[in-house]
This record gives sequence, C-alpha cells and structure tokens, in this order.
Amino acid sequence: MNIKITNPQSPPFPLTDIAIIGGGVSGAYTAYRLMKANPNESPVLKRLLELSGREQIDVRLFELSDRIGGRLWSINMPGLPNIPAEMGGMRFLQSQQNVYGLCTNELNLEVSSFNFANNIQYLRRQRFSFDDYPNPQKVPYFLTDEEKGTYPIDLVTNAVYNLVPEAKGLSGTDLIMFLRNARVKDEPLYNQPLYETGFWNLLASKLSIEAYNLVIAASGYFSIYGNWSSYGAFLEFLRNYADDKYFKLNKGYQQIPETLAIEFIKMGGEVITNKKLYKLQVEEYNGEQLIAMTVGAPDNPIRSVQYARYVVLAMPQRSLELLDPDSFIFLNPQFKKDLATVTAQASSKLFLSYDRPWWQELSPKIEKGRSDTDLPLRQCYYVGTETEGQNKGMSLMMASYNDDRAASFWDGYLQPDRFGLHNPPYMGRHGGQLKQSLLAPHDMVMEIQRQLKEMHNCEIPDPYAAIYHDWMEDPFGGAWYFWNPHVRSWEVAPRIRQPVAGYNVFLCGDCYSENQGWVEGALNTAEMVLETKFGLPRPEWVKDKSYYFGP
Ligand code: FAD
Repeated sequence: MNIKITNPQSPPFPLTDIAIIGGGVSGAYTAYRLMKANPNESPVLKRLLELSGREQIDVRLFELSDRIGGRLWSINMPGLPNIPAEMGGMRFLQSQQNVYGLCTNELNLEVSSFNFANNIQYLRRQRFSFDDYPNPQKVPYFLTDEEKGTYPIDLVTNAVYNLVPEAKGLSGTDLIMFLRNARVKDEPLYNQPLYETGFWNLLASKLSIEAYNLVIAASGYFSIYGNWSSYGAFLEFLRNYADDKYFKLNKGYQQIPETLAIEFIKMGGEVITNKKLYKLQVEEYNGEQLIAMTVGAPDNPIRSVQYARYVVLAMPQRSLELLDPDSFIFLNPQFKKDLATVTAQASSKLFLSYDRPWWQELSPKIEKGRSDTDLPLRQCYYVGTETEGQNKGMSLMMASYNDDRAASFWDGYLQPDRFGLHNPPYMGRHGGQLKQSLLAPHDMVMEIQRQLKEMHNCEIPDPYAAIYHDWMEDPFGGAWYFWNPHVRSWEVAPRIRQPVAGYNVFLCGDCYSENQGWVEGALNTAEMVLETKFGLPRPEWVKDKSYYFGP
C-alpha cells in the first residue's frame, strides 16, 4: 500500500494539531474533551505542544451543515418556545453513565424524566388500552395459549431468556462478555454463537408469527426486530430495556452537542460550519506525517487543502462512503470490509403543532406519553403544552415516529409543495426561519390527520404548523445502524477506530459502537479514541470507575 506523498519542504499552512470532522455529539464531545484535557496527562498532547511551540493545542471542529448536533436536532416550532420537537434522539437512560453524568455532573443541563406512559393501542382496527394486554379477548391476534395475556415487550424478553437462560441476573460487563460467547443450545438449527444468527431468525424459533407481528405493531418499531446480529439485539434488550429510568433534556437533546461546542470555543477551540471534508491524503514533510484534508463549502466546486497532525472522523457509515474514493483510508481493504459490517435503518419523524391539546378532551383523557398503531404513523407522542403567556395552550404532538417501510410511506408525499406556517415569519431556535426543507407537504399533513382521527376515534383540529424529516437523507444514510449477523462487532469496533494502522486518522460515532442508535454509543466510541489514541484519563463524571466504554 503506497500511501504517502513525500515532500522535502517545511510543514505547510494552515496546519492544525487536531481536526475533528463532524459536529454531531461524538465530534463535539471529542473536541470538548481534548480542549479541556491537561496536556501533562497526555503524551500525545504534550508532543503536539512541543512540535507547534504553542501554549495550547490547536483543535478545530469541521461540520458540513450550518448547525452543530447531527442526529440530535431540537426544533422549536412557532408558538412553542419551551417545548422542543426532537427530530432525532430524545431520551437517555440513567444506566448510560456517560451521557447521564455529562448532562447532570459536567454540563449541568436541565434534566427531567421522560414520560413513557402507554395510552391507546390501535391494532388491526381494534382500539384498546395498554392495560388490556392481560385480557386475551381484547388483543386481536391469534396467540398461542402460552403467549396469551402477555405484554408485547415481555413476549420478546421471555423469548430471549428462553434462548439464553444463563443471561438472567447478569448485567454490565458480565452480560456483555457472556453474550459474546453465548450459544443457543436447545435449538439445533441455531446451535452457534449469537453473533452468527439473525435476531428475527431466533425470534421465529420462539414466537408464533402472530406474536411476532403483535410485538412489531405494538412497539412502534420494525427495525429492532429485524435480522441484525443477535448479539447486538440481545444486548439492546437485556441491557437497555432492563432500565426504565428514562430522562430528557428540557431544552432539547441537541443542547448536549451545542453546549459542548460553546464550551470548546470558550476554551480556545474553533468550530467551522458549512465546511465539508471531501478527501483525505497523507503527505510527509521533513519526515513528519501530515494528513492533507481537501475541504470546501458543501456543493461548491471551490476547495482548499488544510493540514492536520491528527484527524478524528466523527461520522456514520454513509458519511464515510461519501468521501472521495481516492482518500487513503480506502486503500486499506480491511477498512473497506469493516465499513460494510453495519446496515443503515430508515426512520422519520413528523411533528404537528396545534392551538390546543385536543387529546386532553378525549375520554379517557390522555395527558402525556405515547400511543401505538399498525397504521403507517406507528407511534405518536403527546409531547406537551405551553402553560404561560400568549402561547398558553399551544401544544406539540410527535404525530409520527416510524421506521423501515413506514418511513417510505411518508416519503411518498415529499414534493416541492410544503405545508405552510400560518404566521410567518417564524424566528426559530437560532434566530432564523424554520428551514423550508423541514416543512411537511400539505398532502402528508392531510393523511396524518386522517390516521390520527381513525386511531383516536374523534374529530381533531387542524394543526397550524407541521415539520418532517427523514434521516435517510445524506449525509446520514439512516437514523441508526445495526451490526450485521456474522460480525464479531467487538473485534471490528477497535480495529475501525484507526482505519489504517500507523496513520493518525481515527473514527468514532454510534455507528460502530456497542450502543448503536444511542448517544451513549456515540460518546463511548469517542471516549475510546480519547483514551486509547490520545492517552486521556477517564472522565470524572462517570462515577462507576469500572464502567465499560466499549471494546
Ligand atoms: P451524527 O450525529 O450522525 O454526526 C455526524 C456529523 O458529521 C453530522 O453533523 C454531519 O453533518 C457531519 N458530517 C458528515 N459528513 C461530513 C463531512 N464530509 N464533512 C464535515 N462534516 C460531516 N439516541 C439516544 O440516545 N436516544 C434516543 O432517543 C434516540 N433516538 C433517535 C431517534 C432518531 C430518529 C434518530 C435519527 C436517532 C436517535 N438516537 C437516539 C441516536 C442518536 O441521535 C445518535 O446516536 C447520535 O446523535 C449520533 O451522533 P454521532 O456523533 O455518532 O453522529
């Protein structure tokens, strides 16, 4: 592999110590941690100061869009200054010690519990309450006698524990290590390590097809019951679903990357938005290896080359695939193979704002939480109501949170004609207008209203604003990624962290983590780059000193 271009001149300018590419939460966290670190505690940072002769390391965060946050995007719709519409991630668990500690101990962000109350179940045109699950007559599925009367989530966890009974009672690293080696013993077809089998395949061996369809319909998700690595899926169910202490940030989950970026700037770091990385090359100057980054404004043919001693790529699979194929990292065949070990999952969200919380007028009254259906809207959340001032009564509903094939249902309505706002101009979260590209098309709004009426069995008022986003759009390629079956993810994760051995380009983000689809996965992969590649000590806000950040 001939990677380097040798150049006898002195180092070129502009030369940065560390460039971070991607202003999502993993990039912002990396930037913050590096800037806050004591260089005396990190041999790499100390060496960077010696090389540059500066008193402080030079760290720059490049982001292709005009905002910091990536898949965390908290939008304040008109009339709802205190109730953010969480277009991306929205909740975290107390057991996710990095994100929990970061919010509560380090950044001191306003946290409150996330309401998960289940209200209506509208499945197969039958409307019943979540509390009706113990009564088989109410549940319109042909379940086996054993399955009857069980809550959908228990159907899944029972199946999982049936397959690996020894996992009962395990948690933390014990659970992870057990699942890596676990085999399904009493199913001859699947007597192999968990990571070799697809989750749907295994569930099919324990659940009737009716129970499987019920679980999908009632949970609101297709993707997590699909055929991804059973190792990843079992970890998700036995670790994350075992914790029911969910939290949210009152001002929106995007507050984490935004606050990290603000603090990073205050400490002397630089954030450069509207700057896209196109290509990565290696050049050698006076024996020193530098990374040459071709950057420019997105969709602008004018580009320039900037140099860095270290580069951290904080981005998911699709963003990496969009880089110039001549970038040196793609010369490593192992990296290309590792890149393909995960599969993107589609998901979109549609928010509606109303003049009043019409769901509180229903009988029984719905206060908060969610409802689920097999209609394409899948999950809706009664997010909240403004309680004071001229906006009193204005209410927000996440009218659809969907994934997989349901996302394509809503994409069918995408066209240039967007659903208008009644009271423009609207000053959005950052002082600008709501992005035109977010406005939901008129026909999409008519259709979601029809489904909401059918599901709630009532007339509902017209919304005054509607926004929609599908995360399949570039540069994300999906809302989250799942490990493919047959992948030893705990071997891929540390290897892909440094795409080409010996070269100072590193990779982080939830995409190749042990907590995919969670901010915790994004933070923990960044933490592993910081600890293993830069030698930073563990963050103080993670109180449990044995907490496992990943392989
Ligand atoms: P990203 O957020 O994808 O950041 C990558 C950044 O890189 C982006 O800002 C992108 O613009 C930038 N970029 C890409 N290419 C380039 C380039 N060439 N040059 C410069 N910049 C580039 N997590 C939870 O914890 N709880 C939840 O409830 C939850 N729900 C979710 C629901 C949805 C619908 C979605 C989409 C995600 C959800 N997640 C949730 C997952 C969570 O949002 C992600 O795990 C996390 O935000 C990923 O952060 P990241 O830094 O790894 O990547």
